[in-house]
Amino acid sequence: MKETTIYLSKEFEENYTYTGDDLGCTYAKENSSFRVYAPTAQRVSLLLFKDGLHGEAYEILEMKPSEKGTFQITVPGDLEGVFYLYESEIDGVKRQAVDPYAKAVGANGLRGMIVDLKKTNPEGFVMEKRPQKPRPTDSVIYEVHVRDFSIDDSSQMKHKGKFLAFTEEGLETPNHVKVGLEHLKELGVTHVHLLPSFDYGSVDETKLDTAQYNWGYDPVNYNVPEGSYSTNPYDGAVRIKEFKEMVQALHKNGICVVMDVVYNHVYDAEKFCYQKLVPDYFFRKNGEQFADASACGNETASNHLMVRKYMIDSLCYWAKEYHVDGFRFDLMAIHDITTMNEIRKALDEIDKDILIYGEGWAADESPLPKEERALKEYTYRMPGIAAFSDDVRDGIRGCVFLEKEKGFVSGEPDLEDIIKFSVTGAVGHSSLYAAKKKERVRKDIPNQVRKDLPKAWAGTTEQCVNYSSCHDNYTLWDKLCVSNPEASKEQLKRMNKLAAAIYFTCQGICFLQAGEDFLRTKEDKNEPYGFKENSYNSSDEINGIHWNKKEENMDMFRYYQGLISFRKSVKGLHLITKEEVEESITFIESELGVVAYTIKTKGELLFVCYNANKKQIEMELPEGEFEVYVNDKLAGTEILQIVQDKIVVEPISAVVLKKS
Ligand code: CA
Repeated sequence: MKETTIYLSKEFEENYTYTGDDLGCTYAKENSSFRVYAPTAQRVSLLLFKDGLHGEAYEILEMKPSEKGTFQITVPGDLEGVFYLYESEIDGVKRQAVDPYAKAVGANGLRGMIVDLKKTNPEGFVMEKRPQKPRPTDSVIYEVHVRDFSIDDSSQMKHKGKFLAFTEEGLETPNHVKVGLEHLKELGVTHVHLLPSFDYGSVDETKLDTAQYNWGYDPVNYNVPEGSYSTNPYDGAVRIKEFKEMVQALHKNGICVVMDVVYNHVYDAEKFCYQKLVPDYFFRKNGEQFADASACGNETASNHLMVRKYMIDSLCYWAKEYHVDGFRFDLMAIHDITTMNEIRKALDEIDKDILIYGEGWAADESPLPKEERALKEYTYRMPGIAAFSDDVRDGIRGCVFLEKEKGFVSGEPDLEDIIKFSVTGAVGHSSLYAAKKKERVRKDIPNQVRKDLPKAWAGTTEQCVNYSSCHDNYTLWDKLCVSNPEASKEQLKRMNKLAAAIYFTCQGICFLQAGEDFLRTKEDKNEPYGFKENSYNSSDEINGIHWNKKEENMDMFRYYQGLISFRKSVKGLHLITKEEVEESITFIESELGVVAYTIKTKGELLFVCYNANKKQIEMELPEGEFEVYVNDKLAGTEILQIVQDKIVVEPISAVVLKKS
């Protein structure tokens, strides 16, 4: 069903699109100004409170109707520390709402708070030296949940579950294995990607003594950090300052910060602030029902001009006020392509190197026509925006929706072309499509549609995010365990190493879930296969990062670390354009279960081979001497071996060589 709403009419857009930059509260010592968008309201009042949770308003002030459907008021005096709400009156119905543009809130985000943002800046923050942002294809992104990072005792951290845990330097386990911030540096990641860290609704901030957990995909206040991650959720200034301290500490250590943003749906549509101020404006509807492409009960309407503006304003605010270096869009395909391109344009004006990537899919059908949506297949229409490659993820480890399905690394047949496609960073390669004419897909594999070679969906490799695990679905280790019950631990580790070697040698952006580098697992005896698949509200025991696992799996950690440092040291793994990929990469004819290719750039020749077979193979090499940097055991920037004419590739393993 297509959306039918007066809000999309030309007349409405012409009369009620406010373009100013003063929505929300603008604080000064002498007075504070407020502007709110409420085009269908007859009246709007400003309510002032002494407290963030309790008590009646001590003052109620009527706001003046102003341009383009907004209401405005300037209140004299110093309002720092005062809490506030708006009350709209629409056709006789009064509703109280938090300011959608609130920059600070009290506990549980129930009331906005007026703060002097200048006072929330840690020392040196305004002038801080932000790290030089790498090119997208030089980025290695580490995805972590704020609470998971520190909550386990093994973290050694003081500020368990808090933003401040990211500021704790110099930590190691009693056996001198680096943890926390030191771990991030040791591994060599360029970006930390934080799971939702804006104010979300599913954790009660007034009951932080009881264990509560949620990933946080349930937005309440988009422009405010989550209170449960602060040391004091009642004072709105504290969470702001602590978030900034986290960013500053990561920056000081050379690490950029990405926020996971969830503009596609809200926690509770009827209670959402915008719904009370402009009913049904923030959401798409199917007739009387909220449309639900998010599968969370509602989907937002980026195609409504003031929602689009809201998203852009919010992102620019995080980038400017908090120095955030990148954004990951949850269910990006709920948003329209125009909005995503406008977002890129607006962020470019702040910093062209701000990273933007997202999920190029939605959870269900949307009333927005398919060709207008930011789907993965249209990524090439959104330059400067990347999408997650489920092609490489599922190709490597097996489909996320079929628990028992194996992937290339565990011997599933017929995935060679998907892996080759992934190697190109989703820009494709003419040799692949030539080969497609052959009967490629085995008839006895049920979900053969998925295994068809995808069309090139990225315009450049910078638009493709390669990964094999994230917070959703099984961890890489758990998926390997579930789909290969017959395999030994040794074999599973070989599969894991091969998986990592594949996506770290693909063209594009690299991404991994925190702890994948030391066999992170979400063991849960109550689950059919012994592991938690969707742990969005599971215990700290299941979700927390158990840093002692790093001690136990230092060989795996060293392998990941080595892959990252090797990747950074060569030119050939940072191709960008389709033409470069086409010219530089040559796939080598090889047996089933093997993908081999060379990458030739100016002054450098790399040879890469992935052997998913359970037997050793021998590959012929181009002419000359080759240095081995990655094999089945080790990876890094040190030469492991020098070979000529041929290379032996061990069972279930990768090799990467560079011509001397
Ligand atoms: Ca909250």
